[in-house]
Amino acid sequence: MKVRFIFPMWPKIPQQTPFTLPPLGVIQAAACVPEEHEVTLADENVEPVDLGEKADLVGISVMLTSQAPRAYELAEAFRARGRTVVLGGQHVTLCPEEALLHADAVVVGEGEGLIERLVLDHEAGRLRKLYRRDGHVDLSTIPLPRRDLLDKRRHYTQRGWEMVDLLQTSRGCRFNCYPCSVSWLEGGVQRMRRIEDTLADVERCGERIFLVDNSLDQDLAYQRELLGALAGSGKRWISHPIHPDEFMMKLARDAGWWYVYLAIYKINEQVRDRIRMYHDHGIAVEGTIMLGVDYHTEGFIRELIDFLLKIELDLAEFTVMTPFPHTRCWEQLEREGRIIDRDWSHYNAATVVYRPASIAPERLQDLYAEAWEAFYGMESQTARMGKLLLATLKTSGRRRRGPGGGG
Ligand code: SF4
Repeated sequence: MKVRFIFPMWPKIPQQTPFTLPPLGVIQAAACVPEEHEVTLADENVEPVDLGEKADLVGISVMLTSQAPRAYELAEAFRARGRTVVLGGQHVTLCPEEALLHADAVVVGEGEGLIERLVLDHEAGRLRKLYRRDGHVDLSTIPLPRRDLLDKRRHYTQRGWEMVDLLQTSRGCRFNCYPCSVSWLEGGVQRMRRIEDTLADVERCGERIFLVDNSLDQDLAYQRELLGALAGSGKRWISHPIHPDEFMMKLARDAGWWYVYLAIYKINEQVRDRIRMYHDHGIAVEGTIMLGVDYHTEGFIRELIDFLLKIELDLAEFTVMTPFPHTRCWEQLEREGRIIDRDWSHYNAATVVYRPASIAPERLQDLYAEAWEAFYGMESQTARMGKLLLATLKTSGRRRRGPGGGG
């Protein structure tokens, strides 16, 4: 049987550098297909999807809510050509009834175990509409993602540099932050992958990795063990924050950490000190700044932008708060009747789709554009990112050659 996976096009934040990272969820799903079947993959973000290509089963991965309209369009187009279409991924788990309107079957929840069963059922001619998992998988049982399906040289390079590979070391989060659906999707307990499994996956990645775990800083013992293991891999890696003390910072730097995504909500000395600490350890900092929380007045947003310009962030990514389904944000705004736009293609974190509490929607949209302009007015994001990449390429060489190897 031939199984074709599709990762649909999704609308990028217009102000961002236009590069595409190799996807992870869809290759994790592809790894679940029993090996006797032929598996192919098309990422529409880097190549057109051939609707006419023969396939016994088409699996469309809908990671992002803003990807859903295009995913449904593709699903309908494949079905019109007689293909059997399955939809899965995070947005499908958030809104299964909606997805069911566009597919022959949907996978709801983590796909491992379900996808294998679905493929068997389809082969036997007894495909069901709904494959749902209640609860969560044991990460020691999941296969390694099919990284071989991605043509990195051809599709995932920027000016000749291979993009980072995405890698997950855990799932779930014990926090339940206001705009985030991770604990709803993956559970309120962090489940760690076994270190040996993570390392086996690391070995299959290129030189630079992005640990996509949204919150690594939940279990100190695990963080130490992970950093110890990564240190031997020789790879350079990006992540969200780890535990911010001197010991962990040094351990992480020596293990190849070079770049952190840091959510910044406040204007205070603690934020300034944290960024200084990262820089003192040679870690570049990209701030992720969400605008439009209820206490964000126009005055506060202007003050925040000024503050960000002073604290020497290497890069900044501005977004507007977005009420993704099954977040506390969505529950509140829905309850208060403040959601004004339900077109999922606008849920790209760059479009105001709700009525903010302290400012008009149009004004927030303008301030969002001004924030990008203020931060990158002097030097573009592409130029800044290029410098950071060059710096890490030089140090990657040093790490490969080892101490005293020059570079
Ligand atoms: S934002 Fe990060 S820390 Fe908060 S719930 Fe989501 S994953 Fe957890």
